[in-house]
Amino acid sequence: MKHRLVILGAGYAGAAVAGRLARRLHADEVDVTLVNAEPDFVERVRLHQVASGQELRHRPLRDMLAGTGVTLRVARVTAVDVDIKTIALTGADGADELGYDTLVYALGSSLDDHGVPGVAEHAHEVASRPGALRLRERLGQLAPGGRVVVVGGGLTGIEAASEIAESHEDLEVAIAVRGGLGDWLSPAGQRHLRSAFGRLGITVHEHTDVEQVGATGVLTGDDGALPADVTVWTAGFAVHPIAAATGLEVSARGQIVVDGTMRSVSHPDVYAVGDAALADGPLGTPLRMSCASGVPMAWQAADSIAARLTGGKLPSTPLGYVHQCISLGRRDAVIQLVTADDRAKPAAPGGRLAAGYKELICKGAVYMAAHPLPYPVRRRRVVRSSAPAGVRVKSAEVPATKG
Ligand SMILES: Cc1cc2nc3c(=O)[nH]c(=O)nc-3n(C[C@H](O)[C@H](O)[C@H](O)COP(=O)(O)OP(=O)(O)OC[C@H]3O[C@@H](n4cnc5c(N)ncnc54)[C@H](O)[C@@H]3O)c2cc1C
Repeated sequence: MKHRLVILGAGYAGAAVAGRLARRLHADEVDVTLVNAEPDFVERVRLHQVASGQELRHRPLRDMLAGTGVTLRVARVTAVDVDIKTIALTGADGADELGYDTLVYALGSSLDDHGVPGVAEHAHEVASRPGALRLRERLGQLAPGGRVVVVGGGLTGIEAASEIAESHEDLEVAIAVRGGLGDWLSPAGQRHLRSAFGRLGITVHEHTDVEQVGATGVLTGDDGALPADVTVWTAGFAVHPIAAATGLEVSARGQIVVDGTMRSVSHPDVYAVGDAALADGPLGTPLRMSCASGVPMAWQAADSIAARLTGGKLPSTPLGYVHQCISLGRRDAVIQLVTADDRAKPAAPGGRLAAGYKELICKGAVYMAAHPLPYPVRRRRVVRSSAPAGVRVKSAEVPATKG
């Protein structure tokens, strides 16, 4: 009986787990199934580009997975039962159920409205492809001088405001930021960001809390208002409520709490990666929701699962950061160098070269999702037990095969 490995979500993290596991294990011993709501891979880190009118390359998951042995199931996950180990799905053929022996949860995240009234009814977003496409259409309908307010001064807000201002020069773009603009960046990074926003004509409203979104703008905490024909909400990501409904241990934000091997701290047959998981980084600070965390988390999870199934050595490399790459339109970017636990170092190169580097990073992220083990490895045999479930998870560690 084959071991059933089921991965939920084919974003950067889930696709990488599936492909890496399939390359590490033998297809006659394991079934690797990847479930995703859409048939295409969505380059989420480029959705602000989509919203600004750019076309992205079409990336069917079937092509990405060709030759890997991974089975793709295009269906929406509606529930996960970790006690009887089943997933409820709805697809083109209606409702269905899928059983698993080991589950990897990688359903990512969506917009977080933080309970602010009016976001759902009036705000646009770039956290999902349908949202980015709707925003694109709306921006295209605005007359010259149309006002766009981007709410949120994190990486996504900065990238979205820059991209919209660059591609729609005739619109008035503003950004509302809770603290100071880019205040987590080094002085050099902040200088570059301010000068880019000045060049792009973006009005910055700092220390501005948006308390309500309406059809004609936003209301701010100081009894002020920012008029807007389009409000773009980028104030954070939230995890799908399915995670919290599973009975798995989750954080206050609903992320599945995992250990250093990306294994659920409450359910050893479940792993979680990407935005949906809460893992500690260096010095115990939680990894931030990002592609920069999701891909290494995926490698860690896949290698840990493979090691546990085959009696190999668990990976022990700690996850950490090198830089934050922030695009400022297509011709500019700032690369903020950071410590392993994501604190800004002094250096923050910017400009055209930085924009080229950021482009490489985006291309690299897709490449790593499609080629999560770019070097050849010797596949390892699972350690079988006499139990009908088929595979015993061996806790003793033996030396791993190199690569
Ligand atoms: C505009 C924008 C710019 C960004 N820029 C950067 C950046 O420069 N650098 C960086 O590190 N991060 C960036 N991020 C964040 C980054 O995109 C996310 O952290 C990353 O996509 C998380 O990867 P993931 O695999 O966990 O989730 P996702 O990429 O969101 O993938 C989740 C997958 O699960 C599928 N799914 C969701 N729900 C269901 C369901 N119920 N059933 C079946 N399938 C489902 C989705 O279709 C999707 O394929 C950006 C995000 C945005 C929105």
